[in-house]
Amino acid sequence: MYSKILMLHFPTREVEKPVVCNLTRYYDLTFNILKATILPRKEGIMVLELSGSRKNLKNAVEYLKEQGVIVKNASQEINRDESRCIHCGACTAVCPTQALYVSRPDMYVKFDKQKCSVCELCISTCLTRAMKITPTTESVFD
Ligand code: SF4
Ligand code: SF4
Repeated sequence: MYSKILMLHFPTREVEKPVVCNLTRYYDLTFNILKATILPRKEGIMVLELSGSRKNLKNAVEYLKEQGVIVKNASQEINRDESRCIHCGACTAVCPTQALYVSRPDMYVKFDKQKCSVCELCISTCLTRAMKITPTTESVFD
């Protein structure tokens, strides 16, 4: 079983529901709608988690594109605003993956993004609000 969180951008509100239901009917996928928004011009944005076989998921994305839906990966990443960080070290105590750590001997707090699991624990810990969560999107199965 393979699952992926996708962001769908529908040209009009009307196409939204049947297209998503067809993902189950035609491609044996299960879906969980995480967020659905209608923009002022009736365009729809939906974030959903799709699960099924990798092959069916790929075919489903092709189907969505044929229906005029723009499909992107929807995920999040943590970034540090270096200008805000005062190297107090508070975040290193809560970071479970050691993505945030104190380097020695200079005692600066370093951020190794590759190790970050996006657990978000550092965000509320950081008093200067240097740690931020940002959505990322990229095309899928191109
Ligand atoms: S808690 Fe914030 S200010 Fe302190 S070291 Fe971590 S990122 Fe920098
Ligand atoms: S989001 Fe979690 S894993 Fe990533 S740097 Fe912050 S505390 Fe560490």
